[in-house]
Amino acid sequence: MSNIAKNIAKVGERIREAAQAAQRDAASVGLLAVSKTKPATDIRAAHAAGLNDFGENYLQEALAKQLELRDLPLTWHFIGPIQSNKCKAIAEHFAWVHSVDRLKIAQRLSELRPEGLPPLNICLQVNISGEASKSGCAPEELLALASAVAQLPHVKLRGLMAIPEPTDDPQLQRATFARVRGLAEELRARLGLDLHTLSMGMSHDLEAAIAEGASWVRIGTALFGARDYAPPPSSL
Ligand SMILES: *Cc1c(COP(=O)(O)O)cnc(C)c1O
Repeated sequence: MSNIAKNIAKVGERIREAAQAAQRDAASVGLLAVSKTKPATDIRAAHAAGLNDFGENYLQEALAKQLELRDLPLTWHFIGPIQSNKCKAIAEHFAWVHSVDRLKIAQRLSELRPEGLPPLNICLQVNISGEASKSGCAPEELLALASAVAQLPHVKLRGLMAIPEPTDDPQLQRATFARVRGLAEELRARLGLDLHTLSMGMSHDLEAAIAEGASWVRIGTALFGARDYAPPPSSL
């Protein structure tokens, strides 16, 4: 068994245990493999071991890997910060975008989604820890943003995504994820929208996220090992 296959088995076990503890069906938790900075060969190995959904943060890097892996039936998710000049390629080459945090980006993604493809699945990224440096929409602005994004014809608003400030305290992790869940519930109640996707939980806090209702956990390090380089911001 390759290391990646072993890691997938371990992460699968963590997901099953966390789902069981939360009395959830483990099949309701999607494993999104975050392959940023990792070579296409790692993605191929992960696919051979059963994974289909891959998340990338840097557009040029993602497009190169998609080309290399075009023989595989993979589902690609964009999870990084989005500049407006990248919207066309993102709308063309991804099935999901988890990191939409302003209306202009959602409008462009909708306009530029090619005819003949299903609507682009969108999550709104919420800045749940209130850090000035992080991307994400402020919780107070979420209602207006969600109601506008929900009107766009070629995107499908699915739910919320969050990247909390890292902490090793499981109580704090859960409290933060619970706030994300609460925001999604509020949007559902106030807008009558079918927002059931919660994209939350990474290698160090997937248990807490699953306990609070995560439907996608985005896992990099625990599957592919530590990342030993970060592409420069210019390659976004
Ligand atoms: C890198 C990244 C992840 C994966 O983080 P790990 O801690 O390596 O599991 C998840 N989500 C986003 C948005 C990321 O950029």
